[in-house]
Amino acid sequence: MSKQQRKFNFSAGPAMLPHEVHEQILAEWYDWNGMEVPLVEVSHRSEKFLALMEKLENDMREIMSIPNNYHVLFLHGGGQMQFSAVPLNLMGKNNKADYLVYGHWSHLACEEVKHYGQVQEVNLLTKEKPLSLISEKEWSLNPDTAYTYYCSNETIAGIALPFIPTSKAPLVVDMSSDILSKPVDVSKFGVIFACTQKNMGVPGLAVVIVRDDLLDQAMPWVPSVINYKKQVEAGSVLNTANTFACYVTSLVLDWTRKQGGLKAMQITNERKAKKLYDYIDQSKFYINQVAPAFRSMMNACFFLPSPELEQVFLEQAHARGLLYLRGHKVSGGIRASIYNAMPEEGVDHLIEFMKVFAAQGMQETPILLRKTTNC
Ligand code: PMP
Repeated sequence: MSKQQRKFNFSAGPAMLPHEVHEQILAEWYDWNGMEVPLVEVSHRSEKFLALMEKLENDMREIMSIPNNYHVLFLHGGGQMQFSAVPLNLMGKNNKADYLVYGHWSHLACEEVKHYGQVQEVNLLTKEKPLSLISEKEWSLNPDTAYTYYCSNETIAGIALPFIPTSKAPLVVDMSSDILSKPVDVSKFGVIFACTQKNMGVPGLAVVIVRDDLLDQAMPWVPSVINYKKQVEAGSVLNTANTFACYVTSLVLDWTRKQGGLKAMQITNERKAKKLYDYIDQSKFYINQVAPAFRSMMNACFFLPSPELEQVFLEQAHARGLLYLRGHKVSGGIRASIYNAMPEEGVDHLIEFMKVFAAQGMQETPILLRKTTNC
């Protein structure tokens, strides 16, 4: 593909895959690994597919430096299935949990857990604009819960908790939209889970990293396919695995390693996000509503002076190969998801386009509209 034709997919998920991963999927589509058929027709019990699962787990362990007392599972159902799987697996002996809520996904997870146990919802959002989070000193967590739950990056509003909370109870984190974007200390967590369609591949799969001592906390009626203990014993193939999603995640992990691993990813991601936010902050046309300390490195959200201008912005961006920038329907505005696979060049193109569009828009927009709408 020539540079002129190159398209950059800013979708929040399913999100852009690395170009090298597309190429490899295409190259081995009709004959995966000498099996003479596409991978999607290969048995999940075949030797070669089981070897892929073993490599997938080992690569995940190596790239995320996962300690030996943790299991790594690849389970059906994406991120939201874990909103039920977590309480079903962890509330068997103690049905209380604290949920830290500051956005759509932590709110949904908190609503889901109410079917299973007693939940304390701890709202982290202050009432101020730009959006900020209450200081950790002011959270009051219960001392005797089964776990404390939070989401490390709220994909819709582009707001993130920039530290790992302190909790006496095991910490459970939804890392769906920032896993693999930077190194994390896995030993601080009881459970880490993430859907794969943002930084790790395609939809339908969740990676679950669970500490060994938590495997005996399940409710008796947890469905087998999401029962962590049973899936550990079955090597994540208790039933037919999501073979294609596992395969793509394995290719993405190979690519991540080739980029230099998570430290290298973090350096590039920080640079990409900084240049985009810096441009937004100095422009008189675009506005971001999140306080700098809590801005997401993965999902940069911004607004234009009016929804009508946003529509024109989206159309013109699309025509230039800057695709799927529309914000989520609950928040509106524009959202540039700049996950690991988004090359820095894509962010540079976006900023260049934003400059041109702002210059046009500033001439056409009444001065009073600027920086006042959507604040
Ligand atoms: N958690 C977060 C932070 C997400 O961004 C998403 C999806 N956008 C989910 C959970 C839900 O994932 P899925 O759609 O795979 O169920």
